Amino acid sequence: MKTENNFSRHVIIFIISSIILTLVLNMLILPTVSKPKVEKTNYSFFLDKLEDGDITLVQVEDTEIRFKVETDEKKQVYSTGRMYDPELVERLHKDKNVVFTENFEETSVLAQFLIGWVLPIIIFILLWNLLMRGMSKRMGGNAMSFGKSNAKIYVKAQTGKTFADVAGQDEAKEALVEIVDFLHNPDKYAEIGANLPKGALLVGPPGTGKTLLAQAVAGEAEVPFFSISGSEFVEMFVGMGAAKVRDLFKQAAEKAPCIVFIDEIDTIGKKRDGNFSSNDEREQTLNQLLTEMDGFDGKKGVVILAATNRPESLDPALLRPGRFDRRIPAELPDLNGREAILKVHAKKIKTEENIDFNAIARATAGASGAELANIINEAALRAVRNDRKLVSQADLEESVEVVIAGYQRKNAVISQKEKEIIAYHEIGHALVAAKQKDSAPVHKITIIPRTSGALGYTMQVDEDEKFLLTKEEALARIATFAGGRSAEELVFNSCTSGASNDIEQATKIARAMVTRFGMSNKFDMIALETVTNQYLGGDTALACSPETSAKIDEEVNDIVRKSHQKALQILRDNIDKLHELAAFLLEKETITGEEFMDILNKDNKVNS
Ligand code: ADP
Ligand code: MG
Ligand code: ZN
Repeated sequence: MKTENNFSRHVIIFIISSIILTLVLNMLILPTVSKPKVEKTNYSFFLDKLEDGDITLVQVEDTEIRFKVETDEKKQVYSTGRMYDPELVERLHKDKNVVFTENFEETSVLAQFLIGWVLPIIIFILLWNLLMRGMSKRMGGNAMSFGKSNAKIYVKAQTGKTFADVAGQDEAKEALVEIVDFLHNPDKYAEIGANLPKGALLVGPPGTGKTLLAQAVAGEAEVPFFSISGSEFVEMFVGMGAAKVRDLFKQAAEKAPCIVFIDEIDTIGKKRDGNFSSNDEREQTLNQLLTEMDGFDGKKGVVILAATNRPESLDPALLRPGRFDRRIPAELPDLNGREAILKVHAKKIKTEENIDFNAIARATAGASGAELANIINEAALRAVRNDRKLVSQADLEESVEVVIAGYQRKNAVISQKEKEIIAYHEIGHALVAAKQKDSAPVHKITIIPRTSGALGYTMQVDEDEKFLLTKEEALARIATFAGGRSAEELVFNSCTSGASNDIEQATKIARAMVTRFGMSNKFDMIALETVTNQYLGGDTALACSPETSAKIDEEVNDIVRKSHQKALQILRDNIDKLHELAAFLLEKETITGEEFMDILNKDNKVNS
């Protein structure tokens, strides 16, 4: 145990330095303090004083005589050289005042004791205190109690959040309400004989309100709330994390009924692998956690909440019944959820009346709660920047784009030629989208560059929330992505790098169609890829032979090529509209979906 080593090293250093200090004090300081001051004088002075009878002490040595003179005014020790004086001793002896002595160091025994022993002890105690304070500061706790965790205790109102602050997430809230209720009156559950889950795991993508939900539980439950982040268990020293877990549960058991919340539990709950190089410390911590979760009595009222966005990486042992047996999903909000979240956050800012939150919610499909909160805040910032007292609908709409695509780069210098290409590119997307019945309506087209690097973009907003993707819609989307490049090819007879993002997106969809959705002609319902990271980017892992993998690539290429051809065809059929709309966009820089549709439908007889 490294820490204990560390500790005993401190103790050894302390003891050694104590001994050295005692010796130094006794050998160097004590003599100088206790030795009386000696004044050199001559022999005749000595004889004079002897005559006067003022000498009280005499020490005769081989070469020196020391004597103490005590008068009413002062006491002083003198020393003088020794002369040949055979009767001296006789004379001194006659003088009843004089005492022979061998030792002038007549400082009181008490003073010696104080300086030699008590003073060092006092100094040691002070030093020890300083040392301990320094150590405990470094360790963030009481240094005397090594291995204590510092789980903060949240009691009621400290987080200041309640379920009212969490919009949407109704299923999650329902599950948590039950837990809160259990903690308030466990008897109700005991009567029936129901066992509440010991632990509940909040899972979902980042920013969906997992931490917020836990804080809301703390606010709602009038019980102590221990909150600790998984990373706080990861210590430099092996064994410390496990000690922290032990201590956390000890504290919790004392305070039961209570809630223990472990945020980002994947930091310690990672699957244990047979790897020897795996992190020993983390494994110990996890084992301790498993043991502790088994060890306590669920009826006592300790409920453990944990949050993670990587549930698939958690050790299966953590998920078995009796531990985190209840899984509470915090998914990305749907249309209603987004509207509710926008409204919750809009309460904190001053808005104009009759803001259409539904429109904002529709434009933000796929946005998480955190992103929506950010959109509201960006809108408020924009209002302040424009010296307005209230946030308007336009602020919100602009901030949606800021969050999606970054800020406008108003002073980016883009040549006329490039602007033209960008305008055709964007209209290409919009036109292909508009001319296919399975794609979402165009909401806005702009060629104002953004800080994210986008030189322009076409926003499509669905009327309602879509949960399924049909094959037709998937193909329509790929064709729409191909529309930008196709327009460049048709009009300028060349292509640019501006389509790189479109290509990426189109490939992603086409690949998913082949490998995961079973939408290709070549393969049947075969899972050729599995999603490994559901909530974080959705990485996939190939699960097929290299030969099949080559066939997948071919098939993906096929799908994209066909969609590209389709986009080209749509644009060829509507080439006049393409020119007209591109010119309009070039002039206006930003056009709405309505303006776009108006021009597109102006004289319908040409093409339809
Ligand atoms: P997570 O822990 O899931 O990554 P957080 O709980 O930290 O996400 O959420 C970050 C922020 O996003 C919250 O502080 C809150 O402002 C906002 N937020 C997320 N989800 C919601 C929601 N359902 N209702 C209201 N606000 C939300
Ligand atoms: Mg969180
Ligand atoms: Zn594009």
